[in-house]
Amino acid sequence: MEPFVYQARPQRIVFGTGTIAAIGDEVTRLGRSRALILSTPQQEDTAADLVATLGSLAVGNFPGATVHTPVEVTEQALAQARELKADCVIAVGGGSTTGLAKAIALRTELPQIVIPTTYAGSEATPILGETSGGKKTTQRSLRVLPAVVIYDVDLSLSLPPALSVTSGLNAIAHAMEARYARDRNPVISLLAVEGVRALASALPRIVRNPADRDARSDALFGAWACGTCLGATSMGLHHKICHVLGGSFGLPHAETHAVILPHAIAYNEPVTNALLKPVADVLESATATEGLFNLARRLGAPTTLAEIGMPREGIARAADEIVANPYWNPRPVEREGVLRLLEDAFAGRQPS
Ligand code: NAD
Repeated sequence: MEPFVYQARPQRIVFGTGTIAAIGDEVTRLGRSRALILSTPQQEDTAADLVATLGSLAVGNFPGATVHTPVEVTEQALAQARELKADCVIAVGGGSTTGLAKAIALRTELPQIVIPTTYAGSEATPILGETSGGKKTTQRSLRVLPAVVIYDVDLSLSLPPALSVTSGLNAIAHAMEARYARDRNPVISLLAVEGVRALASALPRIVRNPADRDARSDALFGAWACGTCLGATSMGLHHKICHVLGGSFGLPHAETHAVILPHAIAYNEPVTNALLKPVADVLESATATEGLFNLARRLGAPTTLAEIGMPREGIARAADEIVANPYWNPRPVEREGVLRLLEDAFAGRQPS
């Protein structure tokens, strides 16, 4: 066994079907009694149901969460939290809503309960990305780690199949990069394989039948496992590319992950072959690259940067930004290789 450091995170996980019924108990368990419920405008009905379930334990809801956690929105939610004397926040939704809960926690230390309804995995991480003046910055702090996460399979049933697929591939990307992270450790490496196994098995079943509860349950478990990998290790080239494409070109988050993943893994697999072998096995392929490329195609995920809004003339600038300030990566991040990777991904070619 190689030497390693593993830092366990203080977080309570409640997983199952119908678990949302326990929300009041979880608020009380935290010693709190005035919850502010957060959601996007699209999930306001779900938030309203939660307010009803909580009864006197809820003081109101803020249905204004939006992608990339703009600080202006955080300020509005904070003002409401202060006015209502909220003593905890509950986020119900995807990574965007979780981001808002984390931004409030960073500024107030209010405890958070997060109820994830996508597979993005933010609920399992001490990471917060925020946007101010059009610029997104990311930080790690235990202050933003949610105290409690309630996974309820029922709430994931409404996630449309196309979003389920891209969100699930986004999750798989966390696990893939955890396998070769510089700060990898045996606990997280095992979890990464199980996360990929769960999602690779669940996503095709969800595409066939979005109401398949067993598949939804497996996918939600996979989301937890992969999110935990993201929170516990440092991400490499794949996440760097997605952050540049999202931040500088406004490409959609989960779709960008879905398109880039096989190409980024192809870049790294020659030097991480042994570390990725268990994932290749789970994907029933000779290489992880081939397994991921085929999985994405089988699921009908977007496969070209062109179709998700990347301007052709932006490719060279993106490559410059990626190599200017790269994250640690098992293979040196060189402009020529990154340019080829982006061109392959732009056109949807087999990763080279
Ligand atoms: P999202 O939260 O933006 O959700 C996309 C849309 O789907 C929203 O309109 C949402 O209301 C809707 N939706 C969510 N769940 C639904 C459901 N079950 N049924 C119907 N509609 C539903 O998307 P996301 O991909 O989950 O999150 C993306 C954001 O999360 C990005 O800003 C990304 O940077 C961030 N993120 C952060 C971390 C982290 O660790 N900090 C990790 C992953 C993602």
